[in-house]
Amino acid sequence: MKWAIIGTWRMCLEGIIAAAEILKHGGDSGDAVEEAVRTVEDYPLYKSVGYGGLPNENCEVEMDAAFMDGDTLSIGAVGGIRDFKNPVSIARRLSRERFNIFLVGSGAEEYAHKNGFERKNMLTERAKKIWEKRVREISDKNLSPYDGHDTVGVVCLDGQGHMTAATSTSGLFMKKRGRVGDSPICGSGLYVDSKIGGAAATGLGEDIMKGCLSYEAVRLMENGMNPQEAAKKAVCNFSEKLKQKRGKAGAMSLVCLNNKGEWGVGTNVEFSFVNGQEKSGRRKQNGI
Ligand code: ASP
Repeated sequence: MKWAIIGTWRMCLEGIIAAAEILKHGGDSGDAVEEAVRTVEDYPLYKSVGYGGLPNENCEVEMDAAFMDGDTLSIGAVGGIRDFKNPVSIARRLSRERFNIFLVGSGAEEYAHKNGFERKNMLTERAKKIWEKRVREISDKNLSPYDGHDTVGVVCLDGQGHMTAATSTSGLFMKKRGRVGDSPICGSGLYVDSKIGGAAATGLGEDIMKGCLSYEAVRLMENGMNPQEAAKKAVCNFSEKLKQKRGKAGAMSLVCLNNKGEWGVGTNVEFSFVNGQEKSGRRKQNGI
């Protein structure tokens, strides 16, 4: 079986390259997806994930992350966690628990501490300056406080047919303390079943979670659609539904991968993604 991997936004390029190295050498999908997301979490200049992520309205970086295993449907997630270096690794660890698999705030931090995860002040000087500027802009120019958010969401298939998915984000810039988006929510921010395929989402969490978008894309694949058709249909249909019911729809994008390594994307905005796959013994990468 050929390996394949896809992730949201240009920011995951270095992570996908690191994951591809693992997959090329016969490594496990769970290790590859975790490595891809950790690479993004560690990079200080990406403003919406991990270290350097933009803070909430109290100038605190609160992060959401999840990990899902497509063989067992095990899921682990953290919401609103602060001051830990790699939320995705904490989520992966939680996915091995039988109970208490989704922890938020101080409970998530306590678990991470007890299990030896590395602490780190995730607020960079740069993110703080951007926050200060936004505070001024909100009062001077009446600017929307919530502009500026993205999630790294990755779906991966390894050479043994094992599929996984993972997400990580600092959520909406200037969000209320305690706000949790779609990214750690199973079925909304991510979903994967090794017998079918997986999907991961980015965009306005408040809207994505209304449509359980990632689950919907996997369901469409299960019913016979290829990943491109499924991603497009899930996003477009739900976006239309929201417009009809509520007059507007927030930004939503999906990356999808099936268990044959075929991939697709759907979006109602401008969106970039990165994918890597084994092809005739060589790695191929694409992005738009
Ligand atoms: N979905 C994320 C959230 O709402 C943000 C994003 O992906 O743009 O927290």
